Amino acid sequence: MQLGAMQDWSMRVTHLIDHAAREYGHREIVSRWADGSETRTDWAGIRHDALRMTQALRAAGIAKGDRIATLAMNHSRHLVTWYGAVGVGGVLHTVNPRLFDEQLNYIVNHAEDRVLLYDAVFQPIIDRLREQWPCVNTYVCFDPPPGSDVLGFEEWIGAHDGNTTWAEGDERDPCMLCYTSGTTGNPKGVLYEHRSTMLHAMTGVAPNFFDFDSRSVMLPIVPMFHAASWGLPWAGTIPGIKFVYSAVNDPAVLCELMDREGVTHSAGVPTVWLAMFGYLDSIGKDVRDVGKIGTAIIGGSAAPRFMIERLMKNGVRVAHAWGMTETSPIGTTGAYPYNWDEMGFEERVDLVSKQGRPAFGVELRCVDLDDPGKVLPRDGAASGALQIRGPWVIKRYFKAEADATAAEQWFDTGDVAVIHPDGTLQLTDRTKDVIKSGGEWISSVELENAAVGHPAVAEAAAIGISHPKWDERPILVVVKKAGVECSADDIKAHLADKVAKWWLPDAIEFVDDIPHTGTGKISKKDLRDRFRDYKLES
Ligand code: ADP
Repeated sequence: MQLGAMQDWSMRVTHLIDHAAREYGHREIVSRWADGSETRTDWAGIRHDALRMTQALRAAGIAKGDRIATLAMNHSRHLVTWYGAVGVGGVLHTVNPRLFDEQLNYIVNHAEDRVLLYDAVFQPIIDRLREQWPCVNTYVCFDPPPGSDVLGFEEWIGAHDGNTTWAEGDERDPCMLCYTSGTTGNPKGVLYEHRSTMLHAMTGVAPNFFDFDSRSVMLPIVPMFHAASWGLPWAGTIPGIKFVYSAVNDPAVLCELMDREGVTHSAGVPTVWLAMFGYLDSIGKDVRDVGKIGTAIIGGSAAPRFMIERLMKNGVRVAHAWGMTETSPIGTTGAYPYNWDEMGFEERVDLVSKQGRPAFGVELRCVDLDDPGKVLPRDGAASGALQIRGPWVIKRYFKAEADATAAEQWFDTGDVAVIHPDGTLQLTDRTKDVIKSGGEWISSVELENAAVGHPAVAEAAAIGISHPKWDERPILVVVKKAGVECSADDIKAHLADKVAKWWLPDAIEFVDDIPHTGTGKISKKDLRDRFRDYKLES
């Protein structure tokens, strides 16, 4: 059988930057640096610098498949590096600088990074760990302080003219490596391909997802090191959007930039929006007073209902997305259902509070928690272990052996969910965090979401405590808002009409802080450790 008769065009991500530079060459990329200074370039400038970077990488002996790491916040030189690294045929490895030394040490050695590009604020990490990273032989600082003797990015690429071409190769070649934060055991690497990344980028710009067009101005708060920055640096090239980057996450700076640069889109985890709300409240403003924000992409953990409500009341479309590093990361996003226009406000908020519907290309299913062979109905009631498959979903972790026994390619997400008849996904927990009481499952997430709706609660986490009769019973650990008082009974009364009676926590413990992981999520593992010897009153 002959192949079809169309042209050869391998799905390599360098096409993305070529397209943006050709069709939207003068569209601006703005960077606000850690020292408060600002620079402006455009898509043509990003491409030119990325070509110069490939020359610098070749001169440093970098060959196809080599890993090029970054330890950096969001700015245009980081964006150049995304394309420069893949342009030389290498693998871009975005390292999360918020991880603990032990994890950073493990990750850089496991990835065998050859080059490491970093922000000056992370110089102490480099000084502390470089002895333990024998694989790295070139260090380049993105923003060297005046007078320092470290190699600076502009100086490094400045020796080259950009008169070169991208490396060629197969569309199934790797192009990017991201590690999961590893709340249990060592972090694990996810190795994306050119093809998977390209398909993912094309999905990102589909209607209902990032909802970009050429007028869009995006200020991504999600860092470039978190879950491939949700694919934004790739997807943004397709309609040639304007990017506004900030290397600091101070809400005052972000709001000023949003206003001044006419930002229409932003993306971040829920805590980022919380910080924005806090700042806006302090200056007596609301989201609608800040520029032209029309779309807020929220993911990484569940967006609480009050957040969605507030954004929607301000005329902002909330794209509540679910995904993970292992899924590139888009799994679902808040696509409009066909009957959106007929829905009332409350009904819309209810819907957006769930995790949306899958992108074309990925399939979801839930299987029984106790019997993974049993696929559950999409009835909006049966909750089980969420599985996913598709062209940008992980097959195996970096350096892991292929599993010859795996009959079907379904990736186990570690999430517990319900799928509704219209395909809407609703996450109810993580498999490791769900609380088993009397043979039935209690969702720790639902308890937490209900608790943070109480005006005195800043943060809440539910964990299971072993119980002689029920196996486990939930307790709720609460951090109160500063200066606001409330009692355990107040919180119990607040929860009473929001969750089933047998879900009500056996105890409420007030604490000063709840432990978080390197990506800012509640670390249930550390919390459980803290409460290991906790005894419930009978
Ligand atoms: P890490 O584990 O490094 O924090 P990820 O960002 O890949 O990295 O985490 C993915 C997990 O985050 C998902 O499996 C899910 O538990 C959680 N998550 C992501 N998006 C949402 C969402 N919209 N609602 C609830 N949980 C979410």
